[in-house]
Amino acid sequence: MISELAKNIKLSTTLSITTKAAELKASGIDVIGFGAGEPDFDTPDYIKEAAKKAIDDGFTRYTPAAGIRSLREAISQKLEEENGLIYTPEQIVVNNGVKHTLLNAFMSILDPGDEMIIPAPYWLSFAEMVKMVGATPKIVTMKRENNFKLQISEFEQAITPKTKAILINNPSNPTGVIYTKEELQAIADVALKNNLWIVADEIYEYLVYDGKKHVSIASLSEEVYNHTITLNGFSKSFAMTGWRVGYMAAPTEVANAAKNIQSHAVSHPNSIAQKAAEAALSGDKSCLKIMIKEFDRRRLYMYNELSKIKGFDVVKPDGAFYCFVGVSEIYGKSYNNEVIEDANTLAKLLLEEAKVAVVPCADFGTADYIRLSYAVDMPSIETGVERIREFINSLT
Ligand code: PLP
Repeated sequence: MISELAKNIKLSTTLSITTKAAELKASGIDVIGFGAGEPDFDTPDYIKEAAKKAIDDGFTRYTPAAGIRSLREAISQKLEEENGLIYTPEQIVVNNGVKHTLLNAFMSILDPGDEMIIPAPYWLSFAEMVKMVGATPKIVTMKRENNFKLQISEFEQAITPKTKAILINNPSNPTGVIYTKEELQAIADVALKNNLWIVADEIYEYLVYDGKKHVSIASLSEEVYNHTITLNGFSKSFAMTGWRVGYMAAPTEVANAAKNIQSHAVSHPNSIAQKAAEAALSGDKSCLKIMIKEFDRRRLYMYNELSKIKGFDVVKPDGAFYCFVGVSEIYGKSYNNEVIEDANTLAKLLLEEAKVAVVPCADFGTADYIRLSYAVDMPSIETGVERIREFINSLT
């Protein structure tokens, strides 16, 4: 009795690993969780205060479908000042987290039968959400030797008459890769030549390291802007995962379509969370610098330590908060007579035996990799990495 569409959708691996790790923890087992892509920091106080005030002020009623104007104005100002993007508040639609923004964007531009190019490795929900609107994810496998960056020849070869859009997640979950302006320009040129939408998920834009700079693809030219839907949110940069606020900034026809869809689906995002998000953008953002500095410290530690483990091929992350690790050299080794044949088995054993949760990345479009989040406190990272090292050393 279940729809064909629903049968085709898998449970998010990251959420199921995180749930399994939480269950083990609840039963008294000391598990280190590198699964969830969620900052361990608490939401900054100035944001929480704004939410409390919203409740006290009785800001608890329905809001406009696209979100309150003052928040959309704050987003518009942020995009102009930080990203060099001019969007009017009418071109901005606030949603219940970027996951929801993505779904709204896909519903606004994709018809059943359309193809959307998704470079792999990719964040697993992209492909599932494309399927959820009846369209087809066209996965393009990027190569380790190209540092997991989309090559123009790969992009061009994937285009068919059905291709409607390409997804660019910059900085990338799970690889941490960041595209330069020139690389984005080359991708945009192909997209424009083929009249494709560019869906730009920039949720990790603040989390860039080593002095690297994040560039919004829509800022490259007016033509690119007219073909781009820019997505961003509050979960990762402001430690606001539970508040559920994300947004799109897009050409007016897309913003209007997304607003109409949203008005029927969920009406609008939570009124109190919208006030909190507005405060996040308008308030003193100095606490972000502290969080980013701490992520950077953990990034270098985790990258350096994992790189010392024999058989691990660690991609150096320039952005986001993940270490992406190739593990195929471990294949064939055994733990208590159980042969590790793939990353799923390795992740299962790491959880059951080493008590460390990592995400196997088959659902991210790369079977031989695992992903570890360093949005976890430093002592846990130290303990978790040590447990992994001991486990890998114990293999025969
Ligand atoms: N986009 C990417 C690339 C992500 O990694 C995530 C969360 O893991 C999201 C979007 C969803 O974020 P939100 O909490 O705003 O829904």
